[in-house]
Amino acid sequence: MTEQMNVFDKRVSEIQRNLDVLYERMAQAAERSGRAKENVKLVAVTKMMPLETVQAGIEAGLNIFGENYAEQAAEKIIALKNDELVEWHMIGHIQSRKAETVCRHFDMVHSLDRLKIARHLNKNAGMLGKVMPVLIEVNLSGEQSKYGFEASDPSTWESLAAVFEEISRLENLAIRGLMTMPPFFDDPERTRPIYRKLKRLQAYLMERIPNVSWQELSIGTSFDFEVAIEEGATMVRVGTEIFGSRSA
Ligand SMILES: *Cc1c(COP(=O)(O)O)cnc(C)c1O
Repeated sequence: MTEQMNVFDKRVSEIQRNLDVLYERMAQAAERSGRAKENVKLVAVTKMMPLETVQAGIEAGLNIFGENYAEQAAEKIIALKNDELVEWHMIGHIQSRKAETVCRHFDMVHSLDRLKIARHLNKNAGMLGKVMPVLIEVNLSGEQSKYGFEASDPSTWESLAAVFEEISRLENLAIRGLMTMPPFFDDPERTRPIYRKLKRLQAYLMERIPNVSWQELSIGTSFDFEVAIEEGATMVRVGTEIFGSRSA
């Protein structure tokens, strides 16, 4: 066995050990809230991670990867020859000029955060003959630095719904639900009220725009995925707990 194989195999078993712990914690969070663990998908976040890490992740059984930067992700996706068994989810802010790259290479967008990018994605998906599943990203904390449609004040939800309705009419996008990224806290319990608010927004939208599926809730990172699952996450986006620190 070559030296290189050894490094790769070590990485695979390290990821597998991390996944054993993670899946157990996810299952317990689901059980605590009376949910089936099968209803929570794991999106493995590989931003800033090299191709070898994604390959080791696939070897360890992962099949949904989340990336923040379109170009970096496209390089990995192309190198993996668009592996049919693997799904790629865009979870980061999308610049207009990257809409084509995103539509070409990704299977889902979690971070649809403004009407303009919805139109760009719709146009590019159309040109590629695709319908792109999307989650609408909302900002529920009112924090200035966060991306997402501003939705912290429920009195604005009615006018927000009019915008979402417009998005729902774009033929090459298919709304599947909502995503939010809370500000950084020191205690994961502090994200719970934000996720409860998201759930209220979801219920509002289900009633207000019933012809759209609002089912998916993409919430929770390494920091707070247990709280997110307890509050209804259908997708958690976890990087560090699986692959280790990105700066290391
Ligand atoms: C980086 C990132 C994650 C994963 O964060 P970890 O702390 O590494 O689990 C999840 N969601 C988004 C939007 C991210 O940018």
